[in-house]
Amino acid sequence: MLADGQVRGANFLVDAAGRRGLLPKLRRWQGPRTIALYAYWSGAGLPDRPRVAAGEGVWAWGAPVADLGFNATLFTDRHALPRSRGDLRQIYLDGLADTDLLPSFGTVLSCGQVTACDASAWLDEEAVGPDYIKVGEAAQSFDPLASLGVQHCIQSARSASVVVNTILRRPGSQAVARKYYEERLERSAWTHAVATTEIYGRSVHAEKPFWRSRCAGGAAVARVEAHPMSGPKPVASTPIHLDRSRVVEVPCLCGDFVEPRLAVLAGTEAEPVAFLGGIPIDMIVPAIVDSETVGDLLEALVRGQAGTQADRICGWLIERGVVGF
Ligand SMILES: Cc1cc2nc3c(=O)[nH]c(=O)nc-3n(C[C@H](O)[C@H](O)[C@H](O)COP(=O)(O)OP(=O)(O)OC[C@H]3O[C@@H](n4cnc5c(N)ncnc54)[C@H](O)[C@@H]3O)c2cc1C
Repeated sequence: MLADGQVRGANFLVDAAGRRGLLPKLRRWQGPRTIALYAYWSGAGLPDRPRVAAGEGVWAWGAPVADLGFNATLFTDRHALPRSRGDLRQIYLDGLADTDLLPSFGTVLSCGQVTACDASAWLDEEAVGPDYIKVGEAAQSFDPLASLGVQHCIQSARSASVVVNTILRRPGSQAVARKYYEERLERSAWTHAVATTEIYGRSVHAEKPFWRSRCAGGAAVARVEAHPMSGPKPVASTPIHLDRSRVVEVPCLCGDFVEPRLAVLAGTEAEPVAFLGGIPIDMIVPAIVDSETVGDLLEALVRGQAGTQADRICGWLIERGVVGF
């Protein structure tokens, strides 16, 4: 229903309405709940450029905004609310006082109305269906300290357009398109967990509960083990074999459609790799299977489409353990 009361029908709904979303939600929270409290400040001596500051149980971000003053946003644990009987202003002022975001705090500065919003990270477990898709923050939200939000939203909108195209134009490929989108969100969650673990862990307050609890996600996330090369380097006559446990079939963006493709799981990288130097993995895998030595593989790659990239592709496959010797 539109704001003026009109009701419109559609075969497919894209929910891009941000954190609140339009559709029912099935959110899986990622890590502890975080709340953001913000207000606009005025007065002498406020920073004239963006600033970030950390305290033991909070962090804060601030920037001057034309005509509104200096926006100072405090991020703290959602559990801070009941402890202080929901007095947002007091939590906000106490939290900021634990950081050096604002100079001369409480003297010449004036603080406007304090507003709260949720800033927790989550993943919606029903982000795509036969007649709907959620994009951007309607589907997934990240911890703001990771600064991944806008980048993720743009990427998710780009892949959602291909997913919707596939669902509507190739009904037989609906399942593979939905699987692609769901796996993409899971991989973003993985990237996010690793990023937040690293960022929170670098803080001087990393041992304090607020910071420590936000480091926990990355460690719990399963990773594909890397196979760093050790011992002598392979030469042309070195016998090789394909590590079949690294070869998987995954749904993949191929032009305007999602299609199943062979891919390799490449060491510590989160994403299965379906193309190497523009060559599909499903052309590279037979070359590996038919080759007995490194030299055979190089020749097979050159005979295929790899040309001058054959050396690099071969080195990449060996370094990541897809090709063993
Ligand atoms: C406090 C805070 C700090 C953040 N800091 C960063 C940061 O530093 N870097 C970063 O990359 N990300 C940051 N993020 C995350 C980032 O803001 C979001 O990831 C991003 O804005 C989400 O984009 P979106 O398009 O999905 O949603 P939104 O930006 O929320 O856009 C949704 C739009 O849909 C409109 N809308 C809602 N309902 C309807 C409806 N029924 N009909 C029509 N339109 C509707 C809304 O008005 C809005 O314009 C932060 C988030 C928070 C909460």
